[in-house]
Amino acid sequence: MGEITLKIDGKTVEAEEGLTLLQAAGSAGIYIPALCADGDLEPYGGCRLCIVEVEGWAGLHASCTTKVSEGMVVRTTSSLIDSVRRTLVELLMANGHGDCLTCPANQRCELQKVAAYVMPQEGRFRGVEPAHPWDESNPFFTLDMNRCILCGKCVRTCDEIQFLHALDLAYRGYETKVSPDFDQPWVESICENCGQCEAKCPVGAIYERARLEGAPSAETRTICAYCGVGCGLYLLTRGERVVGVRGDPENPVNEGRLCVKGRFGYDFINHPERLTSPLIKEGSRFVESTWEEALDLVARRLSEIKKEHGPEAIAVLASAKATNEENYLIQKFARAVIGCNNIDHCARL
Ligand code: SF4
Ligand code: SF4
Ligand code: SF4
Repeated sequence: MGEITLKIDGKTVEAEEGLTLLQAAGSAGIYIPALCADGDLEPYGGCRLCIVEVEGWAGLHASCTTKVSEGMVVRTTSSLIDSVRRTLVELLMANGHGDCLTCPANQRCELQKVAAYVMPQEGRFRGVEPAHPWDESNPFFTLDMNRCILCGKCVRTCDEIQFLHALDLAYRGYETKVSPDFDQPWVESICENCGQCEAKCPVGAIYERARLEGAPSAETRTICAYCGVGCGLYLLTRGERVVGVRGDPENPVNEGRLCVKGRFGYDFINHPERLTSPLIKEGSRFVESTWEEALDLVARRLSEIKKEHGPEAIAVLASAKATNEENYLIQKFARAVIGCNNIDHCARL
């Protein structure tokens, strides 16, 4: 695709043909507020916060659905744009409780960021106090429609990324809400609990319940240990505790996506009954030992069994939780060291 030259806020910008104005501005370091746009999803044009003016065009245009064209002159801010944006944010705020300090999305909420940019006025509009019951049927996350801004990201994420369409925007007008199929409790829907919609929600309307333990203070990039796909993720920690997981958008394997195990299956890490050292059976009791003692015992017993009954008496079970290299080594160990082909593997956990 060819390059297009345009001007945004007086700055000359080179952009690839086919990009939207929002993408072109973003890559040139020009901020345009937006709540429903997402680089992983099709353009939607729902929240209208990304409106811009284009010289020679009448009216305001959503930059997330307008493609760049040669010679365009674009303004991302003017008194008209600023006043429309401020009104839009004030209407969104009038629709919620505004209890940001106790919201699980506090300080990572995109509505807060946009509000800080457009500086809305307090209390110009008064909405009906929202009173939607929470859907807490899902074991991992809660849907609190009282905080929802109807950006539709969760619906589109489930549809366009997960190809499930377990959610939709149901009902009309003021009654509109995010709903699992047939407005049933979330846990009874076709949802596979991947949590992708929770990760995309720009506010605190869908939130992982574990987040109520408090915000993480650090994160560490790693690889999911559950299966051979090897998705990239960040472990979110607070002191010594793992309090959450987020997908690594830079990882080419999963591009930020995770399944239910990778995203929510981390409670075993902090579990008080988790084994952290090997156990050796003495009579009917398991006794804690060191790795040296345990490995010596295994090596000695394998040699004894092989000598007494031959290599076919031994079988080796590899694990999906091990890396490819470790699984390669274990089959090498079975074939070259033990001398048998009795190798199996649990493909998924
Ligand atoms: S958790 Fe995954 S499958 Fe379930 S609704 Fe959200 S995106 Fe869809
Ligand atoms: S639940 Fe979140 S992602 Fe879904 S429409 Fe509401 S605000 Fe948007
Ligand atoms: S268990 Fe899920 S998140 Fe983990 S590597 Fe496999 S597919 Fe990816």
